Amino acid sequence: MSKKILVTGGNGLVGSQFEGNDYIKYSSKLFDLRNTNHVDSMFRKLQYDPFNLNGVIHTAAKVGGVGGNMKYKGEFFYDNIMMNTNVIESARKHNVKNLVCFLSTCVFPNDVEYPLTEKKIHLGAPHTSNDAYAYAKRMAEVQIRAYREQYGLNYKTVIPTNIYGINDNFDIENGHVVPSLIHKCYIARETNTPLTIWGSGTPLREFIYNKDVAKLTEWVLENYDENEPIILSTSEEVSIKDVVEMIIELMDFKGEVKWDSDKPDGQYRKPSDNSKIKHYLPNFEFTPLYDGLKETIEWFETNYVKVRGYKQIKL
Ligand code: NAP
Ligand code: GDP
Repeated sequence: MSKKILVTGGNGLVGSQFEGNDYIKYSSKLFDLRNTNHVDSMFRKLQYDPFNLNGVIHTAAKVGGVGGNMKYKGEFFYDNIMMNTNVIESARKHNVKNLVCFLSTCVFPNDVEYPLTEKKIHLGAPHTSNDAYAYAKRMAEVQIRAYREQYGLNYKTVIPTNIYGINDNFDIENGHVVPSLIHKCYIARETNTPLTIWGSGTPLREFIYNKDVAKLTEWVLENYDENEPIILSTSEEVSIKDVVEMIIELMDFKGEVKWDSDKPDGQYRKPSDNSKIKHYLPNFEFTPLYDGLKETIEWFETNYVKVRGYKQIKL
């Protein structure tokens, strides 16, 4: 009997990178994970299919950049706390023994000693720009730890930094910085208009390529079994200004660049400590940011009309 892994959010930036017949994916149109009955139906259906469900990779979430997080706090809280609570509880009820759930470095306190480590999640309030998302995600960490303690399940959480790559959400207002900049740079180049960047450009971020996240998550599902989460990070900080320069070069943009200081900078930095993943996988090679951006931009230019966020474009 073959073994399968359910990937929630299988069409998303991370979920799309789990490829092949081992993975089962459903659209949110079929099963809305905010709805407990839908989630129970999904796991019941999987129980009756002729294979063993070998684990769950729970990537589905309401996700956005600093703009989306500030504008839709209610939705970011409700959707995420419902999806996580339902998926983790229904997996338990349906005898799933192995599950990985996604957190984010956004969950960490704003005011805490750097670098961020797996032990520091609950040591203070998150940054106000994304506190609703962060608290909802923190509760998934609490739920997983509680289920490990009470039920002895091999459920665990991963904490990736800022992820980018093909299949990202390129929505200009609500997406993360890399896809938003690529999309804005494309429009500026094609329409001979200035490229407007949010904030001061001084904040620092750690970027990780979605293909690397998927490879590391496959390892976590099979091999990691600890109460504490595990950070997935290159631990290399880059300024927003440097990212802008790389994208401008890769997209051959020659026009004017403007900085809009009315737009938020968000958290100044969130440097994370990747010692734990490096300890387990000392030879893992992270995709260099420049190479990942190059691949992402090539994909974006080729698939422009079908990228997420396309509807906003008026050339
Ligand atoms: P994404 O591209 O926005 O994809 C999210 C997925 O969630 C979509 O496939 C969507 O399914 C699904 N989803 C949303 N609402 C749903 C609902 N009500 N019912 C069922 N499915 C629903 O997200 P991502 O960037 O891959 O993020 C993956 C995980 O990593 C998330 O847990 C996120 O919090 C975490 N993370 C992301 C980043 C980042 O920079 N992107 C950084 C750190 C952590 P449909 O397409 O079928 O609607
Ligand atoms: P965060 O890491 O959760 O704060 O989310 P983002 O991926 O949205 O990154 C936000 C950082 O990028 C902030 O410092 C913004 O000021 C900066 N930034 C510059 N231009 C943009 C843009 O067009 N969209 C977004 N989302 N952020 C931008």
